[in-house]
Amino acid sequence: MRKEFLKKAEETLLEMKNQLLREIQERVREETEGSKDEGRDTYDLASHERDREINFLLNARERDKLTAIEEALQRIKDKTYGMCEGGGENCEGEIRLGRLKVLPFTRLCVKCQEDMERESKIQKKFEEERGYRKLAITDIEEEF
Ligand SMILES: [Zn+2]
Repeated sequence: MRKEFLKKAEETLLEMKNQLLREIQERVREETEGSKDEGRDTYDLASHERDREINFLLNARERDKLTAIEEALQRIKDKTYGMCEGGGENCEGEIRLGRLKVLPFTRLCVKCQEDMERESKIQKKFEEERGYRKLAITDIEEEF
């Protein structure tokens, strides 16, 4: 894989990571400020509960994406970035550049992604909940 593409991918991934962290900080800040009008005793208790709630939201919505981004950055360092990890019978081996541009943290080529989606309805549902599914469909349509 070309060095300049890897460099660009790394920049994109770092930018995605920064943006994700900014969104998280922003949401936490809003949640915290929204509780200022409450009485102090209630506030202390409520903020404890709210922190747990925020943590839960972060875990559910952003943790997977953050992990995926960080693992992709690691693969760039390890020089394994862009290699499909699916290994299915139709596997293309290397993930196409067009796909990596849209989904820079993906681990699967289009064929393996399709196989996985056909075979695993549970996984599909999981991805829908994570908001990944929409991205994947857009990507596949562009490949055709
Ligand atoms: Zn593959």
